[in-house]
Amino acid sequence: MLANKTALVTGSTSGIGLGIAKALARQGANIVLNGFGDAEVPRSEIAALGAQVAYHGADMSKPDEIEAMMAFAASTFGQVDILVNNAGIQHVARVENFPVERWDAVIAINLSSAFHASRLALPAMQKANWGRIINVASVHGLVGSAEKSAYVAAKHGIVGLTKVTALENATSGVTCNAICPGWVLTPLVQKQVDAKAVAQGISNAEATRQLLGEKEPSMQFTTPEELGELAVFFCSPAGNNVRGVAWNMDGGWAAQ
Ligand code: NAD
Repeated sequence: MLANKTALVTGSTSGIGLGIAKALARQGANIVLNGFGDAEVPRSEIAALGAQVAYHGADMSKPDEIEAMMAFAASTFGQVDILVNNAGIQHVARVENFPVERWDAVIAINLSSAFHASRLALPAMQKANWGRIINVASVHGLVGSAEKSAYVAAKHGIVGLTKVTALENATSGVTCNAICPGWVLTPLVQKQVDAKAVAQGISNAEATRQLLGEKEPSMQFTTPEELGELAVFFCSPAGNNVRGVAWNMDGGWAAQ
């Protein structure tokens, strides 16, 4: 379905980004990976699906590196047809104790990076009259949780950015939508499980049960594979008139 299209997925060396990149690769898209850490294993996993794959290690907190990544994608594959703004980090502390440097980093990586990548991707999408911008927000784009001020502010912000981007392109073939996962067992969440286990002197299994039990009625993690299939839907012809939605896949978290 996505043959001859190119998808750039930020923060795709692990977790949800890698799951979405694989789902788009299975549909035939060329993939540009981004993120920290080992890129060789993700790269070979995507190549094994038969897709063309490239990698750029831009730090998504730095606008000049985002510009270099977008130029690299265009020169490698022609243009970016599908942009998935996924890179994200977490920091947990009460507002009065929140380190200023962590606030700035969360806002830069989880929110401002999506603005920069979108502003750079949109002109070519508008010219082609086809494009998909998929912002990986969170259930925290819809509701709050204590001790996650920067994250919740960034995720509510990206839901707003999604709506405005969708509206500005509403009469064209360019759509913009957000995905709002609940708990997904990736390195980002594993750190929170580990911290809970240590803080309360409980096992990892008990910490996991408590984490799900506090918020997610299904008592199940959403998987990167399920989120990847939602991204594929947004890219499909059936998604042509889906514009500006914030679609939660959260086991009922936001329904409470
Ligand atoms: P993860 O830690 O597995 O992956 C994060 C990715 O972002 C990695 O590839 C990492 O290298 C990259 N990254 C981090 N900082 C970066 C930077 N400055 N520049 C470039 N890349 C950077 O986390 P994940 O759980 O897969 O999270 C992906 C997205 O999904 C994030 O936006 C997160 O907020 C969102 N999300 C996650 C969950 C969850 O439960 N895991 C729930 C809702 C939303």
